[in-house]
Amino acid sequence: MKRSIEDLLDRAAHVISTARTVTVVTGAGVSAASGVPTFRGATDLWKSFRPEDLATPEAFARDPGTVWEWYQWRRSSIADCRPNRAHEVLAVWSRRYPRFHLITQNVDGLHERAGTADVTRFHGSIWDLQCAVACAGAPRTWSDHTVEFPRLPPPCPHCGGPARPGVVWFGEAIPAEAIIAAHRASLCDVCIVVGTSSQVYPAAGIVTAAGSRGATTIEINPETTALTRAMDISIALPAVDALDRIEWRM
Ligand code: NAD
Ligand code: ZN
Repeated sequence: MKRSIEDLLDRAAHVISTARTVTVVTGAGVSAASGVPTFRGATDLWKSFRPEDLATPEAFARDPGTVWEWYQWRRSSIADCRPNRAHEVLAVWSRRYPRFHLITQNVDGLHERAGTADVTRFHGSIWDLQCAVACAGAPRTWSDHTVEFPRLPPPCPHCGGPARPGVVWFGEAIPAEAIIAAHRASLCDVCIVVGTSSQVYPAAGIVTAAGSRGATTIEINPETTALTRAMDISIALPAVDALDRIEWRM
């Protein structure tokens, strides 16, 4: 039997409000309403490059200036974006539930700006830099909010070589501590996946793992994804709309 949206929102509010442990996995869709474009829905390509052709170590090695210019453009557009109601509801839940974990694929820092208590970043932060050659003297990453760099990459403060964005590029490994945190978080009463196309593993694997470990699984995404049919509750609404309406029911 196909359930109505109201019915699905009621069920989601019930399972979340009675949960002891809540895990949320977010992707680019949660920031769409803040004006941060998703990759797969991207219509405003930068200089007609596809993100997959710029966010790689090979692209940076070949043409660091162009990759850096793209990140500078992204950093300056994200700097003007504000957390939206979806970020705010998740931040409220992070303080309400003693065992709440949020795992994000986003690099924009909007969950942190909304005040979310416990954020695990799978793909790093666009507001971090790291030494491109990982020289022994430099910290693994350092925070940097400059949005007006010259075209060339800024220097590593230790070795003077080029710095790169502190994000995980296509083909690179997710930090081990994030994988461990995600594995721990997959043992939960309810696992909610919001605004991710769930094409990028292992992020998509967390909700599947949570489901097989007994969690109620909820997906919030206006589009159907590879996970939709396997979820206990699939809510086909934008993140802001769904999370705001769930929070009102609690
Ligand atoms: P994606 O671009 O592959 O998928 C975005 C998903 O969000 C789609 O399934 C789409 O249907 C859904 N969506 C669009 N608008 C939505 C809305 N208003 N509410 C809810 N869902 C909505 O993004 P992804 O799955 O996060 O993975 C791609 C990679 O891109 C990630 O690794 C991430 O690091 C990177 N990325 C990050 C940002 C960011 O930091 N905000 C932006 C773009 C890409
Ligand atoms: Zn260095």
